[in-house]
Amino acid sequence: MGRTPSSFRKIDKSLSHSDISHMLSLRDPLANRRLLDAAYWAKSRTLGRTVFLRGLIEISNVCRRNCFYCGIRRDNASVKRYQLTQDQILDAARLAHASGFGSIVLQGGERKDAAFVDFIARTLTRIRQETDRQLGITLSLGEQSADTYGTWFRHGADRYLLRLETTNPDLFRNFHPDDQIYADRLECLAHLRRIGYQVGTGVMIGLPGQTPDDLADDILFFKEHDIDMVGMGPFIPHPDTVHAPLIAGFDRRRQLQLSLRMIALTRLVLPDVNIAATTALQALDPEGRELGLKAGANVVMPNLTDAAHRGDYLLYPGKPQLDEASPAGQADLRETIGMLGEQIGFGLRGDPLHFSRRLRSGRA
Ligand code: SAH
Repeated sequence: MGRTPSSFRKIDKSLSHSDISHMLSLRDPLANRRLLDAAYWAKSRTLGRTVFLRGLIEISNVCRRNCFYCGIRRDNASVKRYQLTQDQILDAARLAHASGFGSIVLQGGERKDAAFVDFIARTLTRIRQETDRQLGITLSLGEQSADTYGTWFRHGADRYLLRLETTNPDLFRNFHPDDQIYADRLECLAHLRRIGYQVGTGVMIGLPGQTPDDLADDILFFKEHDIDMVGMGPFIPHPDTVHAPLIAGFDRRRQLQLSLRMIALTRLVLPDVNIAATTALQALDPEGRELGLKAGANVVMPNLTDAAHRGDYLLYPGKPQLDEASPAGQADLRETIGMLGEQIGFGLRGDPLHFSRRLRSGRA
């Protein structure tokens, strides 16, 4: 890459809490544009012009938790519950492999029973066998014991994504029942790291009552905790939750813009981590994901869940139902990303640069 244009250089330095908080609140369109451009520049310079694909397989919407904001929380009786079979998961993993997606994500509601732990372990073994160990595998299956995390790691999972949702413990308490404790999630992240996973976390952006100072804290938390991957997305009120009354006044545009600034500032503070342009961005704007990439994200997660179940995994409303696994869907994706001046890292696992640097520097 060439040199940083001088107008960007001012932003591209060590940012303080008050700088971040101030920039999260930018309203002036030109200043906003400059911020996003600076982040894209930082991403391109550090990581090149490559976007990595993670095929998303939503393995089950059965969940023992009752997070107030989430469409698949345990007490939402209007959800039709499903659990993919091992063969269905394997089909999706093979499709990802055959399509040159370097990695997959197995995501689902939280279960901790022995049968589930074992099911995931056996599924990991089969995925590894049948894809020549070439796929990077991320799990996103909530809070588990250190033993379970260890078992899944030994069976072939490389990465784990567990969002803190917010790093403000008071705010966390507002959005979760009493049996969900912020400190437990922190402990889970510590276990994951000790075991050797590439560790991902993230937050919801624009939660009711969340301030720019909170979001600035979140970014600095990612830095202080040496996080390898960040998955964040806008909060979107779901009709089957306590947040239903917020739907009428929900300002999608404002929420999208705030999310893009959050991605951009995260990229400026953490130039070498992987940041996903998440599906929730697309739920707010058909081009949300591309806008996320232009704001410094470097990962997209095409949905590989089969069409029969996808409609039952609605964490938030308006989730796009694109068929990105089909040849036409894949061609579209390639074209869209190509038009941004980026190329897809086909066949590459896309491990976070931050992870290899932290191993090299002995910060395991
Ligand atoms: N059970 C797993 C993964 C599934 S939930 C876990 O807890 O890690 C995945 C993510 O969806 C959550 O971490 C949350 O950040 C997001 N999510 C849930 N409800 C949402 C909503 N209403 N708006 C935006 N994101 C939401």
